[in-house]
Amino acid sequence: MKYNPRFSLIICFIFIILGISASTSSASNYIDSLEVNIKNTADKIYIPIHTINNLRYCELEKIASVFKANVKDERSDNRIYLNIYDEQFLFLSGSRYFSFKNKNYLYPQPLVQQNGICYLPFEFLISNLPDLFKDKVAFKDNKLHISKPQDNTIRTIVLDPGHGGRDPGAVGKTIGAYEKNINLSVALMLKNYLEKEMNVRVLLTRSEDKFVSLQERTRFANDNKADLFISIHTNASRDRSSKGIEMYYLSTAKTNEARAVEAMENSVVEKYEGGTEALRKYDDLALILSDIMQAENLEHSNTLALKLQMNICAGTKSPDRGIRQANFYVLRGAFMPAVLVEMGFISNPVEESFLVNKQYQDRLARTIFEGIKSFKFRYDRIRTS
Ligand SMILES: [Zn+2]
Repeated sequence: MKYNPRFSLIICFIFIILGISASTSSASNYIDSLEVNIKNTADKIYIPIHTINNLRYCELEKIASVFKANVKDERSDNRIYLNIYDEQFLFLSGSRYFSFKNKNYLYPQPLVQQNGICYLPFEFLISNLPDLFKDKVAFKDNKLHISKPQDNTIRTIVLDPGHGGRDPGAVGKTIGAYEKNINLSVALMLKNYLEKEMNVRVLLTRSEDKFVSLQERTRFANDNKADLFISIHTNASRDRSSKGIEMYYLSTAKTNEARAVEAMENSVVEKYEGGTEALRKYDDLALILSDIMQAENLEHSNTLALKLQMNICAGTKSPDRGIRQANFYVLRGAFMPAVLVEMGFISNPVEESFLVNKQYQDRLARTIFEGIKSFKFRYDRIRTS
């Protein structure tokens, strides 16, 4: 089409008119902003202040980004959860009350939602927050002064290909496949997906066929400040018809079946790590510490297990044998959300032939990747934009 200056001028006008009408039709108006200073830094952030029905509000998402807070929006019943400094607020859409540490608080006007955006009363920032976090938040000289918020974004993931070296793990009966090789192969493929598509640091407890003790594996994850620990295994059972995917996270309570898998995975300590002496070492040190540390991560581990299990089962069509809790040494020492995946039964002739197949291994890696991705999306605190 020939360039026509008059035509583009008309188009321009149309856009300007549309733009104006769009901005006036919205009930919220940006009027000013609140300056936020982060203590002991030169960082300044501005939170826009809006007026709705002549009252002052700030966008919940903006507040969340300043505090690197986690927002959970339960649209089904208008509940909104906000985690600031690891404490949880509960808001109700349209309500003047919010709940914090099992107490209800009142702010001067109700929380409102408009066009999918949630607005909190301005007073929540300058009055409620300083009251509730006396040592962390202060409102002085029309500015908010806050302690540096913690950033819980997942940056480092440790993948733990089970067994290795003198410990082959479970061995297939039909073609004699070694569990250790399948675990490593899937872990390497998964590492590749995570690094290329998720921009996280991925470390492996072993990247070759060598023996690594269970304690070294979790120490490695702790030393590297891993945010997630994923131990990768293949299952085995006396019953050769057993098949499907099992996902484990840590617990002391257990079913008999979980106990059997636990005994199998833990037997490496007795068989390859110096027997009872090594067992005592786990019991004395790692176990006591990890009980305390892991307790905080159990809920996250459970969510991670759910996401992984859902994705692997849907993507491989392998039967879903469920999420279980068991007392694995390799999980007990990890001070971060940690799961152990059993990707199928090497003892089942059909599954054994799948598990050694590179395409099937890639499918496993891809589906584990998708599970981690969807977990990370929920878990990460919103970044400062
Ligand atoms: Zn194993």
